[in-house]
Amino acid sequence: MTANGPTMTNDGESRDSVSRFPVINPATEQAIRQAPDCEREQLDEAVAAARRAFPSWRARPFAERQEALRAIARILAGNIESLQHLLTSEQGKPLAAARSEIEAAAWWIATVAENELPVSESLDMPGQRAVTRHVPIGVVGGIVPWNFPVLLAIWKIGPALLTGNTLVLKPSPSTPLTTLRIGELLRGVLPPGVLNVVCGGDRLGPWMSEHPDIDKISFTGSTETGRRVMRSAAANLKRLTLELGGNDAAIVLPDADVAAIAEPLFWAAFTNSGQVCVAAKRVYIHADIYDDVLAALAEVARRVRVGAGTGPDIGLGPVQNRAQFQRVKALIAQSAEAGHRHIVPAPAVPDVGYFVPVTLVDNPPEDSAIVQEDAFGPVLPLLRYEDVGEAIARANASPYGLGGSVWSSNVAGAAEVAARLETGTVWINSAQGLTPFAAFAGHKQSGIGAENGLEGLLEFTVPQTVYEPLG
Ligand code: NAD
Repeated sequence: MTANGPTMTNDGESRDSVSRFPVINPATEQAIRQAPDCEREQLDEAVAAARRAFPSWRARPFAERQEALRAIARILAGNIESLQHLLTSEQGKPLAAARSEIEAAAWWIATVAENELPVSESLDMPGQRAVTRHVPIGVVGGIVPWNFPVLLAIWKIGPALLTGNTLVLKPSPSTPLTTLRIGELLRGVLPPGVLNVVCGGDRLGPWMSEHPDIDKISFTGSTETGRRVMRSAAANLKRLTLELGGNDAAIVLPDADVAAIAEPLFWAAFTNSGQVCVAAKRVYIHADIYDDVLAALAEVARRVRVGAGTGPDIGLGPVQNRAQFQRVKALIAQSAEAGHRHIVPAPAVPDVGYFVPVTLVDNPPEDSAIVQEDAFGPVLPLLRYEDVGEAIARANASPYGLGGSVWSSNVAGAAEVAARLETGTVWINSAQGLTPFAAFAGHKQSGIGAENGLEGLLEFTVPQTVYEPLG
């Protein structure tokens, strides 16, 4: 850490840059620190360090790599106080949520460490045995967005390193500080070059996805950027995992218990100020209970305080950055101009900072931007339906297919609706909860491949089959 802020990690050492850029606290609009702006040669150096480290890291016994992941978990848990404050200052989320994110990250990587890689054997060839193992790919580039900077970085660090790859990790330029700091803390824990952390502005991501010596990109971010990554990855046929945007539908069935679902449904939509890839972003509510659900959500919203994440009893922080703030405000303004009725139960928010009050939109037309776009902010359209088949069809009529949820007092009935949703994840009477043991995948334009679960782990490997003569 320098007086300016944390530095990049390259080959186990600190790397500063010639120029730096300010990282803004979204609750104050003031610069917190200056982040390094990686030069192209510095990225080349980081990739070269990862390449040098690869042969010995892949050759290490699996148990040693498992132990390295456990050590990372201990470092995260041991530095939770300072990391949570840094995370809130740059990301905006309430302190308790920042703490939960770091705790979740520590638990996640410790849990990933317990995985084993499967080996399969075939005896179908006369006199031979075919043994298929999963071997590492090489140098992985990890690219992370700004909504969950720590947890989503850990989703890449854990499986990439466990399977024997080395990594060059890039946080979002809006939220680089906590990730850079974690890179500093891990210098003494991992062999040099195994984990390199670079940081820069808009040039750096494309340099990584074009880089001829990066073998795989694991990318989390918007669908638009995912397309760009895919195009540039073609040059050296990089392996790709793309976790992209979503526009998750929540379907509230007529038998749902309104009082019981109000709170979890509210948080399904508004956790992290709506900046969650798998937030409920449009809620289809049966006409019989539409008014009751709207009133119950408004009541929850009335009780939730919006303010700086460091304040007491804050439920929702600001939108993370100015561009996103302006985008969310423009979507809300466009919807108001179109004559949609807005319900803003707690309109008072701080004047300074990127704050948007929780906004419910009462039954806007299905084809309006507020329904069709991934708002990624604290605004939620509520949509009335008469027939469940119609609600499912509307939910599925989207280029996205990330997640969805069904809300009902009859779990078996809800499961039948869940099975008809064209998404990678569906929840019943909850949303957003994920486990390291289950695949998380985007259907349609929400992604390619998977993270988490065995499926996610194997994305960091390529199969290798060895034919051995039978003794
Ligand atoms: P973004 O696509 O703008 O940026 C994501 C990352 O890609 C950042 O680190 C950015 O610097 C980098 N980047 C930008 N241009 C690049 C390029 N041409 N090549 C390579 N990298 C580039 O997304 P964001 O605004 O940071 O994050 C919000 C988006 O992320 C939302 O759309 C959200 O739905 C999505 N998201 C998806 C998941 C998931 O798991 N599916 C999780 C969280 C967020």
